[in-house]
Amino acid sequence: MIVVIKPHTEEAEIQKLVKFIEGQGLQIHYSQGINSTILGLVGDTQVVDTHKLRSNKIVEKVLRVQEPYKKANRMFHPEDTIIDVAGNKIGEGYVTAIAGPCSVESEEQIVEIARAVKASGAKFLRGGAFKPRTSPYSFQGMGATGLELLLLAKKETGLPIVTELMDLSQLDLFEDVDVIQVGARNMQNFIMLKELGKIDKPILLKRGLSATMSEFLMAAEYIMSGGNEKVILCERGIRTFEKATRNTLDISCVPVLKRKSHLPVIIDPSHATGINWTVESMAKAAVAAGADGVMIEVHNKPEEALCDGDQAITPAEFDHIMNTLKKYADIEGKTI
Ligand code: PEP
Ligand code: MN
Repeated sequence: MIVVIKPHTEEAEIQKLVKFIEGQGLQIHYSQGINSTILGLVGDTQVVDTHKLRSNKIVEKVLRVQEPYKKANRMFHPEDTIIDVAGNKIGEGYVTAIAGPCSVESEEQIVEIARAVKASGAKFLRGGAFKPRTSPYSFQGMGATGLELLLLAKKETGLPIVTELMDLSQLDLFEDVDVIQVGARNMQNFIMLKELGKIDKPILLKRGLSATMSEFLMAAEYIMSGGNEKVILCERGIRTFEKATRNTLDISCVPVLKRKSHLPVIIDPSHATGINWTVESMAKAAVAAGADGVMIEVHNKPEEALCDGDQAITPAEFDHIMNTLKKYADIEGKTI
């Protein structure tokens, strides 16, 4: 349920109402926009006497929120959430590029790629240290050493880093990581999501392989319900009957999620198709559809990559894509 407060209401009056509602065992999500103040009610709203609320002199209207996600819901927070990591913004108005290899493989590899993608305009460096591989016999990532190398690349370039947490037991190692990625396979690891709700760090949440948009938003809600509202939604392709591509990029989720939610939505074209020569067209489609950014796998030697080489593009190809995306961002009136 949301309570829209009349414009120009005194803060003290609002606080009186907040106390009254909290007194009924509900939590309040307070959203102060430019034009309006909205109180989002979280909890068992059956106990609320809506007639009484509506008759309060500072209340403009009271609306029931049908969807099961509340804090992620745009009704709770009409303005777009913009996540700021040391001045690098992700959210409406920006097209933010996150780029780097699937996996960190060596100091030379990660530093070389970091330098190249930064020069092309990437604002974040990605790279997996702990890798969720389908086969236990495949390269599992460098683990803690990989994280150290990522931090080294961050020091060399100044690029904030995005890397995947596969298990809560690794969380202590992630202190200096700027954005924690929750991979597609962990999208419904509710225990992990709840713990990430308690920390103050942006979470890049990838859509599960077969998750509906509603399930995706409920996963975000798990994190947000704990207090961490810095969630970035990442569409990375879903399972369909089509086998020509690794997954099927659900481009429609950009406008749909952005309408339903205030959270930033980015596209990962690399995992969506699994094919390097499709990355450019999928990235262009992402920006044209209104995505707030792209996450692209870039490798200095794709043919030697230890993971996801087929979808990796070279730094030169990434540079070309960024030049193209700049034109697309211009059309959309966004900063890249
Ligand atoms: C990745 O980003 O390297 C990754 C493993 O992604 P996903 O969880 O989307 O498969
Ligand atoms: Mn990958």
